[in-house]
Amino acid sequence: MSSITHRKDTRQVRVGDVTIGGKNEVVIQSMTTTKTHDVEATVNEIKRLEEAGCQIVRVACPDERAADAIPEIKKRINIPLVVDIHFDYKLALKAIEGGADKIRINPGNIGRREKVEAVVKAAKEKGIPIRIGVNAGSLEKRILNKYGYPTADGMVESAQYHINILEELDFHDIVVSLKASDVRLAIEAYEKAAKAFDYPLHLGITESGTLFAGTVKSAAGLGAILSKGIGNTIRISLSADPVEEVKVARELLKSFGLASNAATLISCPTCGRIEIDLISIANEVEEYISKIKAPIKVAVLGCAVNGPGEAREADIGIAGARGEGLLFRHGEIIRKVPEETMVEELKKEVDKLAEEYAQK
Ligand code: SF4
Repeated sequence: MSSITHRKDTRQVRVGDVTIGGKNEVVIQSMTTTKTHDVEATVNEIKRLEEAGCQIVRVACPDERAADAIPEIKKRINIPLVVDIHFDYKLALKAIEGGADKIRINPGNIGRREKVEAVVKAAKEKGIPIRIGVNAGSLEKRILNKYGYPTADGMVESAQYHINILEELDFHDIVVSLKASDVRLAIEAYEKAAKAFDYPLHLGITESGTLFAGTVKSAAGLGAILSKGIGNTIRISLSADPVEEVKVARELLKSFGLASNAATLISCPTCGRIEIDLISIANEVEEYISKIKAPIKVAVLGCAVNGPGEAREADIGIAGARGEGLLFRHGEIIRKVPEETMVEELKKEVDKLAEEYAQK
């Protein structure tokens, strides 16, 4: 593959107890949809995200009320908290003071030099990073005039402009995102950014759409970027419950072998040879293994004709037979189980494997 280098060669940036960049795995993020000042609702949503496997969470900070809520939110959650600020440096200072583990703000949008310096000084004192978020839809006028419309070069130039401001103040705990809703533009921008600087990259396709369309679009764009070895943290943006964003991100990372703490389901598409109600079994097993924190491959196959052989890479699997199931490991049948209990038997085997893995 052409450039599987950038991901591992980036700087490392600490966000609470999570490290982005360097040799670390790609970190999954999401963003809350609640009003941040509604602490109860925000904390509840974050807890659901945590449970789904979200490793860093971001909240919007549009006003004073939101900034005031940060300390209380921070106290009640277990994953690092990123606070998203657009222009107002006072909100940034308040968020940092309130315990934000990272802020997202573009230094070029803050205004006068003293304001930028104040934010950078506060971030340095607390040892927290800043994410520069370039968005194709809101590039600086000067850059738009130069290129005529949003281009990958223009996006990288914008990122570089904000990076320069921070570097001049000797600040290097930087993460950069270059989001676009146009998939091809996003791919090109991330590729160029990976060549232009060694700061860790936060991947995202912005405004990607609903659960179905947005999942396909994000997987297409971010999959292309991840396959080139680019990307240190990922956020899927969907017009849906943010828990779905985390699930999609995990699945995407798993398909590139980039998640060591998640199990994968292999299930057949079914055909005329089917012997069991495969679709409902596959859904039940998928739900069950979503809580497993080990890289186990579990197969669920409709029949035993080609079944076990087709899923040779599976650590454990079940194939339908007439009135029973065949439990198999790495393509070899280990025992027969009655149809009524085969899903339970499979779950027990999955738990055993997860335990063995945890003891390794
Ligand atoms: Fe058909 Fe059996 Fe293959 Fe499933 S495992 S697609 S039922 S042959």
